[in-house]
Amino acid sequence: MGILYVVATPIGNLEDITLRAIRTLKEVDAIASEDTRQTKKLLNKYEIKTSLISYYSYNIKERTPQIINMLKQGKNIALVTDAGTPAISDPGEYLVHKALEGGIKVVTIPGPSAVIAALSIAGLSTDKFIFEGFLPRKSIQRCRLFEQLKEEERTVVFYESPHRILKTLDDLIGVLPERKIVVARELTKIFEEIVSGTPAQVRAKIKPKGEMVLIVEASN
Ligand code: SAM
Repeated sequence: MGILYVVATPIGNLEDITLRAIRTLKEVDAIASEDTRQTKKLLNKYEIKTSLISYYSYNIKERTPQIINMLKQGKNIALVTDAGTPAISDPGEYLVHKALEGGIKVVTIPGPSAVIAALSIAGLSTDKFIFEGFLPRKSIQRCRLFEQLKEEERTVVFYESPHRILKTLDDLIGVLPERKIVVARELTKIFEEIVSGTPAQVRAKIKPKGEMVLIVEASN
């Protein structure tokens, strides 16, 4: 049996990769990649010649058994996603699940993840936090979720898209107007920005562009 290596890759700055990740990407038989164009940039920078297999949300059902077969035939495969740590709010989760189900050894090559990168510089309590992944797309569901945060005693981290951030902030203004929040945008990239304050203050300052993490302070 081969090994499935779950390899964290940069969330922006291509220098944010470990020596072990580079060596693993060089040594495996193939790399399953969520975004082959993005991965090629990384492979070019580090002169990695390993072949890529595209593995993204629309082909996971057909690709997963193929990759599992390769692993069962003794091939070592690295899994990388668009950015950050695979399987954290991305299609990598499915392959890890299926590999473990098939008795295949899964090894982590840890590194960046947007949730931890954002939390580490947000200036909010990190003793206890919860990660909620992507926020619901519908305002009514978001408001319901924010209602539950009125009594939440842990810092709460969300992934959010630039297309919805202003509407999400409007919902927060309605439900948690006094709560401190932080938006961490474009982390490790040229326009990295941390905006914090009440939802109304953040809404007035934030540029709805690029990738972002939204963090909501605990209730006390
Ligand atoms: N698996 C990835 C990880 O470990 O970070 C997350 C994948 S998820 C599909 C992508 C989301 O992560 C984006 O929508 C955004 O919320 C967040 N994200 C990724 N890169 C980011 C960055 N450079 N700055 C801020 N947020 C980022």
